[in-house]
Amino acid sequence: MSFRAIRVFKDEQGHRVDTVTLEEHELHEGDVTVAVEYSDVNYKDGLALAHGKGVVRTYPLVPGIDFAGTVESSAHASFAPGDKVVLNGYGVGEGHDGGFAQKARVPGDWLVPLPEALTTRQAAAIGTAGYTAMLSVLALEDAGLTPDSGDVLVTGAAGGVGSVAVALLARLGHRVIASTGRPAEADYLRDLGAAEIIDRAELAAPGRPLGKERWAGAVDPVGSHTLVNVLAGTRYGGTVTSCGLAQGPDLPGTVLPFILRGVTLIGIDSVQAPMDRRVRAYERLARDLDLTRLEKMTTVVGLDEVPDVAGRILAGQVRGRTVVDVNA
Ligand code: NDP
Repeated sequence: MSFRAIRVFKDEQGHRVDTVTLEEHELHEGDVTVAVEYSDVNYKDGLALAHGKGVVRTYPLVPGIDFAGTVESSAHASFAPGDKVVLNGYGVGEGHDGGFAQKARVPGDWLVPLPEALTTRQAAAIGTAGYTAMLSVLALEDAGLTPDSGDVLVTGAAGGVGSVAVALLARLGHRVIASTGRPAEADYLRDLGAAEIIDRAELAAPGRPLGKERWAGAVDPVGSHTLVNVLAGTRYGGTVTSCGLAQGPDLPGTVLPFILRGVTLIGIDSVQAPMDRRVRAYERLARDLDLTRLEKMTTVVGLDEVPDVAGRILAGQVRGRTVVDVNA
């Protein structure tokens, strides 16, 4: 049976995006076929659709770095038809056909069984951004951060990683400071649980190597000067996680926060994260993410609207999370 998909091509006209009809045998190989119900738009998907550079490793390709759906057929011992599953990363939507299609065919080793408490729509609302936010929170906890340690800063707060991080940390009892460049989203961020909002301009320009000690921990999807200033404002013994580069991939700072304040910087990668960490992250998301708040940060679009959302996410104009109903 044929099905609809977004595909990126590279030919004489360069990189281009089209909505096409495919047959299953045209997808990259895998031992599990999934009827995709929902995918979602992440920053990386924006790059894959805009120009593909640094993301798309093979053409033609169905983009979409994650999806949630129901197993249709399986030659993998762990999965059977009818199982609800979610997939994030492993190069899907980069080097292997991804989630912006009604069907996906992938190695079963890449699939995570969906926790019973979550629907496929909620899993896509969480998406790679939300799962990365959870990986960041797990890293802060593993480093010893508790609500008694002090405030926690979330940068890029109105974006996907940021919104889920704010909601998770607030629900876990932390006092959350949200940094955003969109003052109009202050009420939205307070609704997600932020106790204080700061203007991202405070952190975006070159600053002093060490500043006032303001937060005990931080989740940073922004990088560049912002991350350097976040480190400079971290309390003695505090921990900062770095997962993104919305401002830039550079790290133009000094070692002073590390050697004078014992600050720890932890890198977060969602793409190749080991399976036990993924399962732990989804168990915690199912337990600790307020699903009413998740709904508040979610917008749903159809496949046809994906290219537009992809452009807007690169411009920093998308609020929260955008779910793609691939059957709409
Ligand atoms: P979004 O676009 O949804 O969020 C990014 C946010 O960063 C924006 O909403 C904006 O927040 C802020 N921002 C954008 N541009 C700038 C700028 N120039 N200076 C300062 N802040 C800026 O993207 P996602 O949340 O999906 O992803 C965020 C980052 O995390 C990306 O770089 C992405 O590649 C990375 N990522 C990494 C993963 C990993 O495995 N390591 C997995 C998932 C994402 P506001 O308007 O509130 O200021």
